[in-house]
Amino acid sequence: MRTVDLIAKKRDGGTLTRDEIQFLIQGYVRGEIPDYQMAAWLMAVVWRGMTAQETADLTLAMAHSGEVLDLKSLGFPMVVDKHSTGGVGDKTSLVVAPLVASLGLPVGKMSGRGLGFSGGTLDKLESIPGFNVNLSKQQFLDNLRQHGIVLAGQSADLAPADGKLYALRDVTATVESIPLIASSIMSKKIAAGADAIVLDVKTGSGAFMKTLEQAELLARSMVEIGHSVGRQVVAVISDMSQPLGYAVGNALEVSEAIATLRGDGPADFTELCLTVAGQMLILGHKAQNEADARTMLMAAIQSGRGLAKLRELIESQGGCGDVVTMPELMPQARLIETVGAPRTGYIAAINAADVGLTVVDLGGGRAKKGDAIDHAVGVVLHAKVGDRLQRGQPLLTIHANDEQRLTAAKTRLLAAYRWSGEPVQRPNLIHKILA
Ligand code: URA
Repeated sequence: MRTVDLIAKKRDGGTLTRDEIQFLIQGYVRGEIPDYQMAAWLMAVVWRGMTAQETADLTLAMAHSGEVLDLKSLGFPMVVDKHSTGGVGDKTSLVVAPLVASLGLPVGKMSGRGLGFSGGTLDKLESIPGFNVNLSKQQFLDNLRQHGIVLAGQSADLAPADGKLYALRDVTATVESIPLIASSIMSKKIAAGADAIVLDVKTGSGAFMKTLEQAELLARSMVEIGHSVGRQVVAVISDMSQPLGYAVGNALEVSEAIATLRGDGPADFTELCLTVAGQMLILGHKAQNEADARTMLMAAIQSGRGLAKLRELIESQGGCGDVVTMPELMPQARLIETVGAPRTGYIAAINAADVGLTVVDLGGGRAKKGDAIDHAVGVVLHAKVGDRLQRGQPLLTIHANDEQRLTAAKTRLLAAYRWSGEPVQRPNLIHKILA
C-alpha cells in the first residue's frame, strides 16, 4: 500500500477499506507517514466525506492506536464521561465533571486542546499553576480509583492518533468535517473506557456545525458509533450562536467555572451545566429524572461539594488547589481595557467564532502546531444577545499582553456585534436531546 494512492483515492471520492484506514493511522502514529501527506488526506476527507462504515473504522483505528482502558478492574458500578464538539467560552467540563463526581459518580475524561476558534479543556486546565494533563495510562487509572475524577489528554498510551491528528487539523483548516470530528471525539471516549457518555453537540456561529441539521447528523453519527461498541450515549444539542457565559480565554474561563461552582455563574452557562450533568447522573443511575438530578446538583453547588471536588481534582494532578479561592493565582494580563457600547440598542447577534479567533490572535490559541499559548489573555463580555445597552455602557473587557494586539482585538470584537433598535429574543439554549 502507498499513502499517495490512498490520498488520491479519497481525493477522487473513493471509499477506503478498514485495512487502508488502519494503514494510514498506524503509519502516521509510528512516524512513517509525514504530516504533509496526512494533511493532504485530511483535506480530501473534508471535501469528500466518509461513509458510516469508514467513520466507524477510522474511530476504532484511532481508539486502538494506544490502549483501550478496561475500567471494570476499578470496581465502580459505572464510570461516565462527557465531551463537547467545541465552542467559544465552553468551560462546561470544568464544572460538570467535579459536580457529578462529588455526587459519587466517577468521571474519567480524556479532553482536547484548543482547535481553530474553539478553546480546549486541556489548555484551560494548564492555566492552573502546576496542573499536569499528561498522565500515563497507570496514572489515569490510579487517579480515577483514588479520587473518582480524572481529566487528562491523549498520551503515548491513550488514543495517540487523535493527539497527533488533532494538532495537525488545528493548523491545516481541516477541523470542520463530521467524520473527522465524530472519530476524534469517539476514539478518545472509547479509549478512556467510560460506560456512559454525554455528548454536548454545539450548533451556531461559534460551533463547527453551523446549522441544527448538521449538528444532528454529527450527534447521530457519534451516538451510533458509541452504541456499536456497547456504550450508552446521549447527545445534548445546544446553542453556540453566541459565546457561552461571559468569559472567553483560558484563565478567565477557569475563573468563571469556579464562580459557577459557587452558584455565581452566568445564567446560560449554569443552565447548560445542569442539563449536561443531569444527563450524566441519569445515565449513571444516580438520578431518576431531570428534576431529581437538578435538585442533587443544586445541593452540590450550595454545599460547596462541587467546588471541593474541583480542588481535589486540581491537587491530584499536581496543580495549585488554592486557585478555587484565589483565582488571581492564575496568569493575569498586563493590559485590561473595557470597551463601551458603540450605540444604544439591543444586542441582536455576537459572532462567536470571531470572538474565539480574536482570543487566538491575542495569543490565547495556536497559529502553528505546538505554539505556546498565553493563558492570561481573553475577553469578558458584559452583555449578551437580547440585552439592551445605552451607548457607552460597558460592552466587553479585553485582557491583553500586547498593545497592538489589544487595538486589533477592539476593532474585530466591535465588528462581531449586530444591533437592533427593537427588542430581540434570546436564543434557545437546548435544542434537542438524542439518545
Ligand atoms: N473535539 C474533539 O475532541 N475533536 C474534534 O475534532 C472537535 C472537537
